[in-house]
This record gives sequence, structure tokens and C-alpha cells, in this order.
Amino acid sequence: MRKPRISPDHINSGSNSFAVITVLLRFSVNQFFTMFLLLALFPAEYLLSESPDLYAPITAKNYLTGRFNPQSHPGMISLDKTAIPVNRKGHFLRKEASDAFLLLYKDFKKEHPEIEIKIISSVRNFDQQKAIGEKKWSANASGATGHTTRARYILKYSSMPGTSRHHWGTDFDINSLQNNYFESGSGKIIFDWLEANGAKYGFCRPYSAGRTKGYMEEKWHWSYKPLSKKFTEEWTKNFKGYGQLKKSGIRFSGSDASLDFASEYVESISDNCLN
Ligand SMILES: [Zn+2]
Repeated sequence: MRKPRISPDHINSGSNSFAVITVLLRFSVNQFFTMFLLLALFPAEYLLSESPDLYAPITAKNYLTGRFNPQSHPGMISLDKTAIPVNRKGHFLRKEASDAFLLLYKDFKKEHPEIEIKIISSVRNFDQQKAIGEKKWSANASGATGHTTRARYILKYSSMPGTSRHHWGTDFDINSLQNNYFESGSGKIIFDWLEANGAKYGFCRPYSAGRTKGYMEEKWHWSYKPLSKKFTEEWTKNFKGYGQLKKSGIRFSGSDASLDFASEYVESISDNCLN
């Protein structure tokens, strides 16, 4: 039997396909190395410029509930690297919030060089909030009150883990955790100045007086609205409704008694921070 002849045309088409595959392979290998090099050299910048996502590299659900390490998040900055006065080392905020607060602080000091504004609390992740909440949960264990009453009592001033605005890096506390500090002397000068001027720099006070639900008034807690308004909306979109937080894996002492009314506390903030 004669062997089938292989025509020169067959040989050419075979080597052409091989050449095309080689070129494609080289192209993808090059692409891969370019991507790898960019990520290695500029991780934060590259990820942020590629993605309009404010949460990356964390998922929105984990970011909004504080389940990440703020110290290694590319959107955060250590306040130790800024000129913002702090009560201790190790405070972090979103870069945008830190930049805006520094502008505000410098303008305040022009008018009141003798008065100091210090950040005393900043971003707190889920585990830190859980530790605070569980300490309060056990401290209030005595007495005949049920779990719901105990949870409501703690929620007057402390948010439950997974629901705190302090998870987002947009919110912080200044000078004192006592409302009466801001009702006389330097405290009142700071408070009145911030109420009059804070909004020009993007700041609002979520726990204002006169709300009928949610946490009690906090004259020390301020929020960077250009980001926190979006985070509030996204939190609500993701977690409002029966059992949503529980489904997402949020658990802590007393969670069964409090998760069902979590969204009431997240949403009951000043209109100034919502609109
Ligand atoms: Zn606070």
C-alpha cells in the first residue's frame, strides 16, 4: 500500500498553526509577567487604579462589618505619619478622611492656637469591637433583666461588632467621651466650631441630639461623610433584614439578642450624615 503523500501545503499549514500558538503563548506569558511586576511594585496604586471598589482587596461584606486588618488595608493611613494630634500611637483612618481632617485642624488652629484637638479613637475592627462588647455583656450579666433588655442597655453607647461605624476608617472620636466636656470651656469652643464649620471639610456628626432611635447623643464622634454616607447605604443594602448578619457569620456574646435590631442602630443617625 502506498503511503499517503504529505503535500508541502500540509506542512506549511501545520507549522503556521504552531507559530500562531507560540505567539499566543508568548503574549499571555508576557501579560502575566507584566501584571505580576505591576502588582509587586505598586500593589495599592495598581489595585486602586484598576478598581473603583473602595473595599479592595477586602470584600464589601467583610469590609463593612470590620472583618479585616485596617493596618494593612491600602485605603488606610497611620495617623503617626500625619501631623494630626493623637492620644497614642497606632491610630488609622481612611486617607481621604485623614487629609480632610488635617485641613480642618489647621484652620481651627489659626483661630484657636491655644486649644488642642486630639483623636482618641479611630478605626476598630470586628475583633476589637467584639472584645469591647463582650466585656460589657459580662459586666451587665447580673440582675433579672432578659437578654434583649441587656442588649438595649449596652447599645445606648456601644455598637455591636459588625455594625460599628468605627469599622470603616471614616469615623473617629475626639478629646473626651463625655458630652459635658463639650458643654463648657475649650470643649464647647471645639464643639461649636465643628458644628459651624465641619461640613465644609466633609464632616458630620451622626449621633446628634433629638433622634428618637439609635445610640444616645455623642458630641465627640465625627464622620467623614463623602465615604461614610456610601458605607452606610451599602451596609444597609447588604445587612438590613431578619438574620442577614447572622447568615454572614457574625457571632458574639449576646448576638442572638441584638442582631435583629442591628439595622435600627446603623440607620438612626443624623440627617446631616445621610443626605
Ligand atoms: Zn465613636
